[in-house]
Amino acid sequence: MAFSLYIHIPYCVAKCPYCDFNSHAATSWPEDRYTAAIIAEIRHRGTQTPFAGCPVKTIFFGGGTPSLFQPASIARILESVAATCGIADDTEITLEANPGTVAERALAGFRAAGVNRISFGAQSFNPAILKYLGRIHTAEETRSAARAARQVGFARLNLDLIFAVPGQTLADVRRDLMEAVALEPDHVSAYNLTFEPGTAFFADLQRGRIRPLDEDLQAAMYALVRDELPQQGYPMYEISNFAPRGHEARHNLSYWRGESYLGIGAGAHSFAGEGAGGRRWWNEKLPARYLTLVEGRGEAEAGSEVIDGRTAMGEFVFLNLRLRSGLDSARFRSRFGCDFDEVFGSVAARLTAGGVLLREGGWIRLSERGLEVADSVFAEFL
Ligand code: SF4
Repeated sequence: MAFSLYIHIPYCVAKCPYCDFNSHAATSWPEDRYTAAIIAEIRHRGTQTPFAGCPVKTIFFGGGTPSLFQPASIARILESVAATCGIADDTEITLEANPGTVAERALAGFRAAGVNRISFGAQSFNPAILKYLGRIHTAEETRSAARAARQVGFARLNLDLIFAVPGQTLADVRRDLMEAVALEPDHVSAYNLTFEPGTAFFADLQRGRIRPLDEDLQAAMYALVRDELPQQGYPMYEISNFAPRGHEARHNLSYWRGESYLGIGAGAHSFAGEGAGGRRWWNEKLPARYLTLVEGRGEAEAGSEVIDGRTAMGEFVFLNLRLRSGLDSARFRSRFGCDFDEVFGSVAARLTAGGVLLREGGWIRLSERGLEVADSVFAEFL
């Protein structure tokens, strides 16, 4: 069973007030120790069931801010993956980078280490919005990081954007899209800002210090994104992701297709499909405790759950519905051995009649209206 490999680097220079990832603000970080732990965990997981002897399809360094690590550390990690599991020549290897933390030399080092796709958290090109979002970088740093990435040979470049920031206008969103497109990335991710429990923004919201944008305005911004990016050559292939054909993020596609993945690092989650169901597990979140556990026993699993067939079906449906192409009912049948309509026929009929699902041939996908209320549509299948 081929699998995707996710490697989590949990350190950041500062904690952004909207961020609910497992990321920790630090002025220094135990890079050598953490790198050694990642390598130990790769050796442990990569030589045990269910991933032993299986090829790696894609590798993704996420965080946190992986670009805080030296290229030499990233190279050591990739060497250990190659030695344990093997890395094919065409494996997509992505590294997330904060435009405020990368000089051209570091980018050249990541490229030489084997990284072939770079993803910059641009978020916005508007100084006031960057400040509001607590970002440590400027718009000019994003521009020069993108130029430098090209210069050192990154043919594949993603820019992340955030919209629906309080105070933002439709014109601001359009300007950000145009600024991003002008840098000629081969992929753009555009996320609607959400207020997640545990974040500083959520606390501000609870205290009445933040007023989210009106829902109609947020929907209009999302419609603008869906309209503008395809016109600029970036068709929408997932709820928040846009790229010309053949430039989709293969790593993320494997999540949305419900395939197996191994997560390495503090707080990383893994899933191994087995029969109709599978097993999910997750690592200790706190970096310090993660390090101690891996140094003691080679892994840092903190919990797990068995996914039964019916749960796996629901998850498979909602993940595939995130894709613009939607759910291929033939793939559902070959994965689970039964027809989509046997299990979800009545739910799907109700959602289709309600105008949020479309059915064409064997494909089931969200309508334009469905995209705007996607989370509530997904909940119907769980
Ligand atoms: S840089 Fe990214 S991971 Fe780090 S706190 Fe900000 S949003 Fe979260």
